[in-house]
Amino acid sequence: MFKRTLIFSTLLFLSFSSCSTIDPKESEIDAQALKAYQEVRAKSKISTHAEWTAMLNRVAPRIAKASGENFKWEWMLIESPEVNAWCMPGGKMAVYTGIMPVLKNEAALAATLGHEVAHATKRHGKQRYSRAMKGNIAGLVIGGAAAVGGQLLCKTETCRLLAGLGGAAGGFAVAFFDRKFSRSDETQADEYGQTYMAQAGYDPAEAIKLWERMGAASGGKAPPEFMSTHPSDTTRRKNLSTWLPRARSVYEKAPQQYGLGESIQ
Ligand SMILES: [Zn+2]
Repeated sequence: MFKRTLIFSTLLFLSFSSCSTIDPKESEIDAQALKAYQEVRAKSKISTHAEWTAMLNRVAPRIAKASGENFKWEWMLIESPEVNAWCMPGGKMAVYTGIMPVLKNEAALAATLGHEVAHATKRHGKQRYSRAMKGNIAGLVIGGAAAVGGQLLCKTETCRLLAGLGGAAGGFAVAFFDRKFSRSDETQADEYGQTYMAQAGYDPAEAIKLWERMGAASGGKAPPEFMSTHPSDTTRRKNLSTWLPRARSVYEKAPQQYGLGESIQ
């Protein structure tokens, strides 16, 4: 009986201690993000569009610098009709060519990257990623399920691309690519994103117009990163207008002012 109690309490202890190991370890999350990024890079067609690539090569480092974060930044332009962009934990960014015509200009690309980078700098989803990575222990079988049934589990193309990774990397991939941030995370990403673009030298008023275009382009069906928990277009535009005077003063003090930058053809 004693023995059984001992085993029981050991198991209980183990299950509790494995729960406590769920607290996010940034280096671990970044390592999985890097793995997923490299996998996406290997499996995707990298765009050869010279102007767009040059534009991304200009804007991405400016936004990275404006964020003040010391990540190991990397970015790529993926050839795909998807209206999408993301920044993984640790500063790995991707822009899909499908979003470029909606952006219309360089400032809107800065607004989009600003928003995505803010999700990474504010560590949104950290808890969720680390739970997914330790899915097997916690009984949240996201990691395992990603390997076995990823095709069914995934909602986005990129998630399906990575589902085969399995284990921690697969868990991370599912949690990242099919992620939904909370409404408050989205609002924070909008706020910081607008500041980042202003600090990077782009007219922050363009963020408001971008969301008008994004709403119109999606025809009510939101593109991947901008799924349902996002604030409504109206709320988002109202918020961005409220923050505009402050963003404008950041813009005026920025080392360079590019206005809207180049237009996207
Ligand atoms: Zn977002």
